[in-house]
Amino acid sequence: MDYFDYRDGELWVEAVRIKDLANRFGTPLYVYSKKTLVRHFQAFDTALKGLKHLTCFSVKANGNVNLLRLMGGLGAGVDIVSGGELFRALKAGIDPKKIVFSGVGKQAHEIREALKTDILMFNVESAQELERIGRIAAEMNTTARVSIRINPDVDPKTHPYISTGLKKNKFGLDVLEATGAYLLAKATPSVEPVGIDCHIGSQLTQLGPFVEALKKLLAFADRLQSSGVDIRYLDLGGGLGITYSEETPPLPADLGRSIAETLAERKDLTVILEPGRAIAGNAGILVTQVLYTKKTSAKNFVIVDAAMNDLVRPSLYGAFHRIGEVTPRERKPILVDVVGPICESSDFLAQDRLLPALEPGEVLAVFSTGAYGFSMSSQYNSRPRAAEVIVDGDQATLARRRETYNDLIALES
Ligand code: PLP
Repeated sequence: MDYFDYRDGELWVEAVRIKDLANRFGTPLYVYSKKTLVRHFQAFDTALKGLKHLTCFSVKANGNVNLLRLMGGLGAGVDIVSGGELFRALKAGIDPKKIVFSGVGKQAHEIREALKTDILMFNVESAQELERIGRIAAEMNTTARVSIRINPDVDPKTHPYISTGLKKNKFGLDVLEATGAYLLAKATPSVEPVGIDCHIGSQLTQLGPFVEALKKLLAFADRLQSSGVDIRYLDLGGGLGITYSEETPPLPADLGRSIAETLAERKDLTVILEPGRAIAGNAGILVTQVLYTKKTSAKNFVIVDAAMNDLVRPSLYGAFHRIGEVTPRERKPILVDVVGPICESSDFLAQDRLLPALEPGEVLAVFSTGAYGFSMSSQYNSRPRAAEVIVDGDQATLARRRETYNDLIALES
């Protein structure tokens, strides 16, 4: 459930009209609802309340420092995948003891930075990475807590680009390789194996794959125990899907219940979840304005001021985002492509969509864009990135100003 709704013939976010935000901050504009973010975070935290747990918001979904600060204030930890995300998290005041570091290609300087702040743990994805972490930790006279990321070979039944737990994916280690990695970790004085990790994919709409992966992890944790490796943390990653269109994904409470049932014998373990999309996705919209409409012999086009540089998901994954007018009027719907100004035919926000016959100047909302929206945006075609606003009740705060032309060349000598 989110706090974007149509009332009195207008789209509102909490107690603010989207039209007023478009007038005040310009378009394209990302708008986030604080109440929705809080609600979604708490849904996860409550779902796991019978278990020792830590909810680590996945920074890659939305790394705005203001949003991370909000998460931290609610007690969240974070899942990071780069030194840059560590920097953001620390700037936002996230407790390093609640930071887990995932990703297949951690660089030496990133490992050093994470060890310096004494993060909770590294989710290690290869034997070479483990050796490197061990070496750097020894040089720094410290100990690195690690989990090994297991690739459980479970089909998450989602888009191939965001499936990560299949044998053919680059992520994690299979159970046999992971056994070797744990024994190596145990034998390395500067490394302490404390957990076991997996993340099988994103936008999962069924519980089955989560439970299948969890069972494989638990069986593996038991085998490790008998080899003298004491597992205390069980990190199941992120991946819970959201409703973009007609999907009916399980709720965090459903996921929590399944985890609790499956973990009946291992209540000693601390469960970590790394949700991104399920917290931020439906907590944000992208507001854009119609520039032109154009009818060709083949199609009707609605050309808007947001483009694939602002929201790449439709172009990259063929993703569906609901689009609606900010001030709806009764009109006959027509079939249109909603496209941006970028010089690529892949620059679309929607294709073959039934929308009212729109006119230049009208403001539209592209829904479910709070996750992997701004964070995947770029300056392609030298388009300054959009501004971001967080709404709390009747207050709107600029969370990131719109980039300027000078920002485009600021780093070029
Ligand atoms: N954890 C890891 C390791 C990931 O790679 C991702 C996303 O790809 C996430 C968590 C967040 O996933 P989601 O946004 O689907 O919850």
